[in-house]
Amino acid sequence: MKLPIVHHPAYTADIPENHRFPMRKYAGVAQWLKETDPHGGLYEFHEPTPISRENLLRVHAKDYVDQVLCCQVPRAIAREIGFPMNESVSFRAQCATGGSLLTAMLALEHGIACNTAGGSHHARIAQGAGFCVFNDVAVAVRTVQTMRMASRVLIIDLDVHQGDGTADIFAHDASVFTLSIHSEKNYPVRKRASTLDVPLRDGMEDDEYLTILEETLKSVLATFKADLVFFNAGVDPHHEDRLGRLALSDDGLRKREDLVFRMVRNAGIPMAGVLGGGYSFDLGLLVSRHAILYQTAAKYL
Ligand SMILES: [Zn+2]
Repeated sequence: MKLPIVHHPAYTADIPENHRFPMRKYAGVAQWLKETDPHGGLYEFHEPTPISRENLLRVHAKDYVDQVLCCQVPRAIAREIGFPMNESVSFRAQCATGGSLLTAMLALEHGIACNTAGGSHHARIAQGAGFCVFNDVAVAVRTVQTMRMASRVLIIDLDVHQGDGTADIFAHDASVFTLSIHSEKNYPVRKRASTLDVPLRDGMEDDEYLTILEETLKSVLATFKADLVFFNAGVDPHHEDRLGRLALSDDGLRKREDLVFRMVRNAGIPMAGVLGGGYSFDLGLLVSRHAILYQTAAKYL
């Protein structure tokens, strides 16, 4: 079987060439997947439709949703998001959110599926923040729950930044377990309580990180019976990342992905992977780090 990959060309939005956000990584990941699978034996591409307003409203406030859809986001919120809130950025957010929904549905059908975008975990109910417009994973979770495709969902967020938006959205929802393993002193300054937060000290390296991850996953999987897992595989805990404060190596990231897929698949739970953060200057290296998610996922189909 081929690994379902959800991708849309609109994931790469038009922002100024010198913008600090590495927007070209999304197209880069799709290109990498196609180049490393020239005969199409490993990956099967699916193009998502933009998320509907109705599905966005399952998570986000009406005023904010309409501001984004009409490209009339107040300047203060746009500044907090960090993108020029133009038509292209708005459409990207709609496609990435539709993409995470399609990824969840494909995962429930085939066992594993991955989006080449997603993981906008700083977006909270009434606004976006930190390069996140809509909380794609939260919208996907609420939508598959409404469609009765899944009822209990575990979100494993290993992006180096705390998943404050996701924590906020599901704060009073016992059907969703939010796990965030992140750098304690990093953005966001004001963290929101996840179901389980594991804050890590600056400069943590592979071995210690992997031990903590394994112990944490073991106890979470034993206590919360999920019928879908979302995995935010941000690569910003890497030691070369501009916005991380941890010190994982490429090998550490590979072992991390392997551990997550092995433990979740051994528990028999479908898995939806999303790309998450990654901010190295070198686009080639950044893409190759994000690619570990898809390489690993393909092994556990
Ligand atoms: Zn991050």
